Amino acid sequence: MARVLDDPVLGQAIDGSPSLGLGEGFGPLLSPGEQAVLAQAPKLGAGRTSPVQDAIGKVWNGPNTALGAIYGGLGMGAGEIAHIFAGAPEPKVFLRDNALQFTNNPFGGVGAITLGNTTTWKGDPYDPSDKEWHDHRVPRLEPHPADRPGHTYPQHETEHTYQGEQLGPLYLPSNLVGGLNAMFNGEDWHGSHNWNEIGPSSNPPSAWPKVTP
Ligand SMILES: [Zn+2]
Repeated sequence: MARVLDDPVLGQAIDGSPSLGLGEGFGPLLSPGEQAVLAQAPKLGAGRTSPVQDAIGKVWNGPNTALGAIYGGLGMGAGEIAHIFAGAPEPKVFLRDNALQFTNNPFGGVGAITLGNTTTWKGDPYDPSDKEWHDHRVPRLEPHPADRPGHTYPQHETEHTYQGEQLGPLYLPSNLVGGLNAMFNGEDWHGSHNWNEIGPSSNPPSAWPKVTP
């Protein structure tokens, strides 16, 4: 299987081609306007791994992805109910940035949860009308020190997808132990003692902390 984001067929699907119905049946797809905005945003992680590495990573990450798809799908159901009865933003699902993106999803926690090659978002960083998560034509930048370039929320979550491709079944235990380690050290879950968050929170973001010789 070719790398998801480099796949020209999938690229067409994201850009609105009817040639591949990927995503149909999951729920509402992006409107042409949304697709146009998305097409201008940089595609994250493109070309990072070879097609073979990519395929192995996706399979290794598969159990996490299955869990994430169920999780995001259930959240999407809850989001549809909130949308219909309470006027909440419409939940969406689409492929982008090395993951199946579930947006406007009440299961997004405090911001986003990446499980395998899926990310479940509380808001929608890909939607220009989402003032909390999106800024102009590029997804909103995560807060960062003035002397650092910063990065977007999707850049952070994309790094977690690559962690999953490397750790496979160890991804969840690693996050659980890392998060607890941070809390035992008086930090919040994303603190510096959670080794899973250091790389994705770096500028520029990476899967793991950069080791300086
Ligand atoms: Zn994170």
